[in-house]
Amino acid sequence: ANLYGIKEWGAGYFDINPDGEVIVKTTVSGKKVEVSLMDIVSGLTQRGTQMPVLLRLENLLDNQISLLNNQFAKAIKDGGYQGNYRGVFPIKVNQQQQVIEEIARFGEKYHHGLEAGSKAELMVALAMIPSTESLIICNGYKDAEFFDMGLYATEMGYKCFFVIETPSELPILMERSKALGIAPRIGVRLKLSSRAGGHWQDSGGDNSLFGLTTSEIIDIIDQLKAEDMLSSLQLLHYHLGSQIPNIRDIRNAVQETARFYTELVQEGAQMGYLDLGGGLAVDYDGSQTNYVHSKNYTLGEYCTDIVEGLRTVLDEHEVAHPNIVTESGRATVAYASVLLFNVLDVTRLESRPLPETLPEDADEMLVNLWEILGYMNLKNMQECYNDALYYRSEIRERFKHGQVSLRHRALGENIFLQVIEEISANLGRLKRVPKELEGLDQALYDIYYCNFSVFQSLPDAWAIDQIFPIIPIHRHREKPERQAIIGDITCDSDGKIDKFADLHDVKHTISLHELKAHEEYYLGIFLVGAYQETLGDLHNLLGDTNIVSIRIQEDGSFDILREIEGDSVAEVISYVEYDPKDVQNQFRKKAEQAVRSGKISVQRRKTIVESYESSMRGYTYFER
Ligand code: PLP
Repeated sequence: ANLYGIKEWGAGYFDINPDGEVIVKTTVSGKKVEVSLMDIVSGLTQRGTQMPVLLRLENLLDNQISLLNNQFAKAIKDGGYQGNYRGVFPIKVNQQQQVIEEIARFGEKYHHGLEAGSKAELMVALAMIPSTESLIICNGYKDAEFFDMGLYATEMGYKCFFVIETPSELPILMERSKALGIAPRIGVRLKLSSRAGGHWQDSGGDNSLFGLTTSEIIDIIDQLKAEDMLSSLQLLHYHLGSQIPNIRDIRNAVQETARFYTELVQEGAQMGYLDLGGGLAVDYDGSQTNYVHSKNYTLGEYCTDIVEGLRTVLDEHEVAHPNIVTESGRATVAYASVLLFNVLDVTRLESRPLPETLPEDADEMLVNLWEILGYMNLKNMQECYNDALYYRSEIRERFKHGQVSLRHRALGENIFLQVIEEISANLGRLKRVPKELEGLDQALYDIYYCNFSVFQSLPDAWAIDQIFPIIPIHRHREKPERQAIIGDITCDSDGKIDKFADLHDVKHTISLHELKAHEEYYLGIFLVGAYQETLGDLHNLLGDTNIVSIRIQEDGSFDILREIEGDSVAEVISYVEYDPKDVQNQFRKKAEQAVRSGKISVQRRKTIVESYESSMRGYTYFER
């Protein structure tokens, strides 16, 4: 039942029940509860909600915020550390209103704050921040308007920090601060020399895009001193990169930063906060290794290593312990969203039955290929494979030159497939599999066409080969007999998933069940709550999916808290500047011309125009 590694990547939130269905597990008011995703899907389809659906599981969001805060609190207590933990959620990781609202609502008791990287995100943060105890951290490039809004928030009593990313920002901030008569809270972003492995390693390190060099930090201290504003400098920040798989990189960066912090204190700044940015990784493949899609540490170790690392350096220099801030985004929200969709169709790469004999006029290459089936055995398999490849390419070449007909070419391709199938079926009987034949069994995969768009819902799978766990959400009592890749419904050859989480490697196919007539087959893509939603685009004009937020209750039932209908066709075409009314009118004119030229009747025109207008209101995905 653990074929898909769910116990490893599921982090205790996802598992399979005795009915063979994927369940979500959580604790509500101290009671363990679980809900089958199939029950949620049938609840939704009964209400008329079409697949694909992005399912938000609010309980898991709350759980992750609690875990993060509690683990830091424990590490702080166990380590005798004097500062507090103050987490902030980076809005860019999932900007959706209901996500930010829930983080603010649930995070209030931990004084969990928000990080804003742009003016728009600051506007959201200012509206959503739950209390004056929670921090607002402003990163990114900031203009005068940005500073003004943050300064007003400071005046209103909010703990709003401007993190200086480039030297040019400071004069603008000082000017706005003087003009409004409001003293700012300032942070500086460090360019660390420590680097981390992983996809986003360029975010940190000497050559990172953001952050100040040591000389620039000294300039900033001197400018603040000159203006008698050094007391405003209270926070030191760095961001090593997202998804840091190796705890050693985190430890190194903490040590280096602690030294910088000490120096800033010794320069006379009234420091109080150390902001270690994001980077807390998610174990997408469940391998618990320092492989790029995984992490070789637990949350507990992460917190302890940070607290211990800081305390050791700071105590050595007799510096008071600062409050620890982290900007964990991915780890906070990844688990809370699951993309659910149905499989629409399957194409199989498998041979069809061959005729008894070859046609009289068969080309010699076709004859040669055919004969392989007669003489192939365990000893000459590799040779037969090479010959088959050669004969097939010759047949294709002769087809191009008109010497082989379409039907004969199809026959050739079919014979070739039979050769490959026979080799694959017998690979297991070989003492040693020749290098060339390794993985041949995986070359014969099916394509499962699924009702979603990689570009809209999983942009990182397309852009940076990010791996997400994918698993059927039912039928786990049956053996999945097919090897497949997943195709989406865009007509783009990149609209596919052919890399799947495997415990110690990446697999190029996934095991799936045969489709059954008159029964939907549902798959889920898990851990998609971070970064995927707004990075997605309108490729092929496939829009936002339906989104449903649920909360699991103490008795194991679930409440649908919010349903957001996915984009209609009219909405997506308006995003690319068409006026849907105008487009509709243009089509009507065409229908009228067709009536005038006698191609269609007036009644037919009515039906066609109604059909067009109803499609405009419809979902952009495949509707059943
Ligand atoms: N803080 C900053 C400045 C970032 O650029 C990012 C994302 O890369 C984060 C926090 C969030 O990182 P993560 O999602 O790894 O926690």
